[in-house]
Amino acid sequence: MTAGTLARWASDPRRSRGRRVAEAPAPPRNDHQRDRDRIVHSTAFRRLVYKTQVFINHEGDLFRTRLTHSLEVAQLGRSAARALQLNEDLVEGIALAHDLGHTPFGHAGQDALQACMAAHGGFEHNLQSLRVVDALEIRYPAFDGLNLSFETREGILKHCSARNAERLVESEPDGPAQRFIAGTQPSLEAQLVNLSDAMAYNAHDIDDGVRAGLITPAQLDAVPLFGHWRRAVLADFPALDAQPKRLLFETLRRLLSAQIHDLVATSTAALAEHQPADADAARQLPPLLRFSPALHAQNAELKRFLFSALYRHPQVTQSTALARQMVAELYAAYTAAPAEMPADFAAAADLPRSVADYIAGMTDRYAQREHHRLTGRRLFAD
Ligand code: MG
Repeated sequence: MTAGTLARWASDPRRSRGRRVAEAPAPPRNDHQRDRDRIVHSTAFRRLVYKTQVFINHEGDLFRTRLTHSLEVAQLGRSAARALQLNEDLVEGIALAHDLGHTPFGHAGQDALQACMAAHGGFEHNLQSLRVVDALEIRYPAFDGLNLSFETREGILKHCSARNAERLVESEPDGPAQRFIAGTQPSLEAQLVNLSDAMAYNAHDIDDGVRAGLITPAQLDAVPLFGHWRRAVLADFPALDAQPKRLLFETLRRLLSAQIHDLVATSTAALAEHQPADADAARQLPPLLRFSPALHAQNAELKRFLFSALYRHPQVTQSTALARQMVAELYAAYTAAPAEMPADFAAAADLPRSVADYIAGMTDRYAQREHHRLTGRRLFAD
């Protein structure tokens, strides 16, 4: 993308706030393209393929993993970025990195690690994603981490508690945590990735939930956003009543398109109204990337449905309870016997943090193997 096609409020790579360790430019790539490439080549990125989104990795080959989820977020984000003349490369980099800090077993793993780390500074996956790209990837001679640009790091740190923000700002006053104290927004590209994340998981969790047999199209029909598009598809193609998969895919396709169109139209209007002078001015305004109030409300309703019908489904909660137990037992085992971890983790000055980093980096199946090796027990049937 040439900078000439960027809107004036887009993040212009030529005006990046730069990297923590200064590096020579690498033409023809700009700084945000280079960030994206570093993320794709990282070890943490490859691990996403064996990390759970909602379903445990061994439950089926067709379910989303963190990797396919991240690719879907990047696809949706890039489509909208192009239409809005935002920085597509920055959007792609943030999207591909946004879940790098996720533990094995999705939110269940994070909840367990958070409980284990309660007295040791806590654990939060957004913060961990930043930690992965800032410190835990060890591959470059001159620095730890990937030494990404400010804008990519800002997008990765999507949430941050006040306590963590204060701690981060102490060591990096102008860093990406500063906005949580100032109460300002991240770049428009970061705002776009947040919305793309929600669009992606709402749609693919429906698909995965139906495939798993945990939610039914009849249940979904009562959710206005889904029901509306399902009826529209059936009006155009009545024969699809007998082809449930085709009907589901076409419904989800239309649901996603409608969301992208709504997001682009609503955000275009908000940008036209506020006319930010540049990317920094946009950070001082309310979030300008947004859905219309009507679609926002419908999305919230869909989310509530997924929460109660899918994420709280007894079959899901049963495997998440086992996952929490596994992570807690791994934490206890490594804390009691640090030498069971690789030497660089065992030797770290802050043992609880090192154990959390080690466990957070694991794939679902590696966590299961380690748990079996250390406890002699298997919590999941193979
Ligand atoms: Mg995500």
